[in-house]
Amino acid sequence: MALFRERDGRRLHVKSRLMGESLVGKAFLEGLKVAPQQRLFPDVNVIKIGGQSICDRGIKALPELIREIVACKKKHKMLVTTGGGTRSRHIYSIGLELGMPTGIIAKFGSSISEQNALLVSTLLSSWGGIKIGHDEVIKLSTYFAQDCIPVMHGMPPYDYFALPSSKSRIPIHRTDVGTLILADLIGARSCIFVKDERGLYTDDPKKNDKAEFIPKISVGELLERNLEDLIIERPCLEILRNSEVLEKIQVINGLEKGTLTKALAGKPVGTVISKT
Ligand code: ADP
Ligand code: MG
Repeated sequence: MALFRERDGRRLHVKSRLMGESLVGKAFLEGLKVAPQQRLFPDVNVIKIGGQSICDRGIKALPELIREIVACKKKHKMLVTTGGGTRSRHIYSIGLELGMPTGIIAKFGSSISEQNALLVSTLLSSWGGIKIGHDEVIKLSTYFAQDCIPVMHGMPPYDYFALPSSKSRIPIHRTDVGTLILADLIGARSCIFVKDERGLYTDDPKKNDKAEFIPKISVGELLERNLEDLIIERPCLEILRNSEVLEKIQVINGLEKGTLTKALAGKPVGTVISKT
């Protein structure tokens, strides 16, 4: 990149297309040509273990899923993330009734999902499970070279800077969002959400027994349907739609043995939500 000095000789600039731009100009952003996003770890599968849906079930769900993850390790590189679940909801409700701002509520959520990362990495520790921090993400190759299964908590590290929303002080970017952003960041091979239902339905199947299962849907169709409730956090849809490196996400039932193995093998189990 060329350097040049202003005519009066006082200031030195680095010449680039971004120079002198506000970086919010519409025409500027639309016309800006950049290299396609690099896929940093295209062979890594990002797998979120649900907090409420899986971790909170303890011995009824985790050991079987851990066995499956360990069995899949021979074939697949996996980066595991964790949700917060019921304990997050507990502290959220206490914080909300005490008037806490979004950033404090988000910080609570981070520490609970971190507890579950410790729980899952401890269960995996005999097979290379290792709890890692967000900063370690660029070191993934090293962990896999050492035969590890890295486990990270799923809450995005916005913490005190969590985006306040118009609807509620519950942070809108929680562990599904953190997991999907992570998958986008590394250009993952897949992004799989392990929960306690077959996948996405037209409504919450726990509350509406007429809810119908949706095996496959595009983000556009799903946004259009504007469903009353979803199995993943709503901002995930926009994030997938904007991703340069992810084509789909998959939501599967972690209570059903073998489902994760099938998803990792590229089989259309659960619900596949595609970018287009
Ligand atoms: P996690 O523990 O992974 O964060 P959540 O409990 O937050 O998972 O979300 C999963 C739950 O979402 C399911 O157990 C289901 O009861 C509920 N849910 C709400 N809407 C839907 C829907 N449209 N389809 C399927 N499940 C839904
Ligand atoms: Mg959730």
